[in-house]
Amino acid sequence: AEPTAALRARAEIDLGALRANVRALRARAEGAAVMAVVKSDGYGHGAVPCAREALAAGASWLGTATAEEALALRAAGLPGRILCWLWVPGGPWRQAIEADIDVSLSGMWALREVVAAARAAGRTARVQLKADTGLGRNGCQPGKDWAELVAAALRAEAEGLVRVTGLWSHFACADEPGHPSITAQLARFREMTAYAEERGVRPEVRHIANSPATLTLPETHFDLVRTGIAMYGVSPSPELGTPADFGLRPVMTLSASLALVKRAPGGHGVSYGHHYVTSGETTLGLVPVGYADGIPRHASGTGPVLVDGKWRTIAGRVAMDQFVVDLGGDEPPVGSEAVLFGPGDRGEPTAEDWAQACGTIAYEIVTRIGTRVPRVYV
Ligand code: PLP
Repeated sequence: AEPTAALRARAEIDLGALRANVRALRARAEGAAVMAVVKSDGYGHGAVPCAREALAAGASWLGTATAEEALALRAAGLPGRILCWLWVPGGPWRQAIEADIDVSLSGMWALREVVAAARAAGRTARVQLKADTGLGRNGCQPGKDWAELVAAALRAEAEGLVRVTGLWSHFACADEPGHPSITAQLARFREMTAYAEERGVRPEVRHIANSPATLTLPETHFDLVRTGIAMYGVSPSPELGTPADFGLRPVMTLSASLALVKRAPGGHGVSYGHHYVTSGETTLGLVPVGYADGIPRHASGTGPVLVDGKWRTIAGRVAMDQFVVDLGGDEPPVGSEAVLFGPGDRGEPTAEDWAQACGTIAYEIVTRIGTRVPRVYV
């Protein structure tokens, strides 16, 4: 038999876990539809395979940030509804309309562009009006801006150029239990949707909940929940709990094969800048992944790795393609597995542990794993 080429590094994607997570989220958001958020290549897990599994497990919408992401899902043959929410002037509105993608509008410029594209295509565009209920990012401001957008959308609807399929918004602090902005945003969302509906908008879906809201705030579920991070089995915030607390299982395991194991004397500087110096004779293990693979350089001296059953900490700086761990007295064979993060069952660190070690959120840890690391679907 042909020998199998060993992989330098791999991100194993457990699609069974993803399906189970979608089912857990459906149960939690009973009565609401589930949108699988697969932007940024499915938070680094692979947008197309994850979208396919999420739909098979009962999600009924897919969500992306960019138009290109949404169009790529269609090109891969994914059926069903897709909402795409991050547009710039001159974007591919017409392709989106022709691919049956629902597009989000946060302002008049976007409505004008989609109306022109619908007219050119001879098709009705499905649009969702996004309200800024307090996030202070994308979304239409309440008051006269919202009134103007709603009125213009209704006129375009009367002409058959658009159909307003949704009214929606996004939370600023849903991951901070009890934050006063949550109730304030919810109240504003009710006001803004009521305003639009009183004037004749008939949305199929009203939605505001992301993962933390889906997991902890049932009053925010409305007709649909948009779940990203929870679907990948990662906790939105350590403050809310662990994935297991919500019946979720981490989907990604990131590991690498030790590329070198060598003895080194005490007083030996390790990696660029010599920020780590061996305290006595020891074994150094070379882990062949670096910041070009998405390992944060901030993990220098802090990132945890499981080697031969023990947690080791990155010794010295993370370089572009590699870093070193000090293995003390252990001498595992070269090629041994180094697990950076995974579900934690085998004692390995989790994405949440990495986030803590790097002073960031677990979203960033999984999303930034680069394309040079092959995804292996299991
Ligand atoms: N909805 C919007 C508009 C988003 O930008 C995101 C991601 O940031 C989500 C939903 C999903 O958020 P989460 O990953 O917390 O579920």
